[in-house]
Amino acid sequence: MPSNITAICPGTFDPVTVGHLDIITRGATKFGRVIVGLIEEPQRKSPLFTPEEREVFLRDALVGHDNIVVDRFNQLVVEFARKWDAHVILKGLRAISDFEYEFAMAQLNRKLAPDIETVFMMASPEHSFLSSSGVREIAAFGGSVVDLVPPAVARRLAEKYPPGSKA
Ligand code: ADP
Repeated sequence: MPSNITAICPGTFDPVTVGHLDIITRGATKFGRVIVGLIEEPQRKSPLFTPEEREVFLRDALVGHDNIVVDRFNQLVVEFARKWDAHVILKGLRAISDFEYEFAMAQLNRKLAPDIETVFMMASPEHSFLSSSGVREIAAFGGSVVDLVPPAVARRLAEKYPPGSKA
């Protein structure tokens, strides 16, 4: 039975993958509400898809999940959490390579907001090597990503990069 705790699940989702959806929907069985926070303009990278496109992909993929909300933000993660009165930041952990970055982010966020806890869920084994950047790379070289992303995302990527084409 989900608790009354609200968790935010922040990310760039450029584009959303089945790995993200796995963490979000598993989270929604453990928390009362999961707010998927779409970072509009990430500091480190310039996204392939616009915030509008990324939001539509997420919304379409999460239709029917009553306790999952999609929202966009361009501020500190802890400020976004406060906006939703969330005391949990939910993150997915894939391999050891994620750990160092996520550990540092969790410590920084704890410093900024000691009352907000970062909670990690391990990626499902079948999604452990799945990343948005990997999906973009496969698609850019005309490879199939149908098993890795929701159908609408696969269609959009195939339009951007026709199968068999090379970026
Ligand atoms: P990416 O790292 O794929 O570019 P984001 O920056 O959007 O994705 O990441 C948002 C969150 O989703 C992070 O906590 C990240 O660890 C998690 N995540 C990304 N891909 C997966 C996956 N395949 N399985 C579990 N969690 C994932």
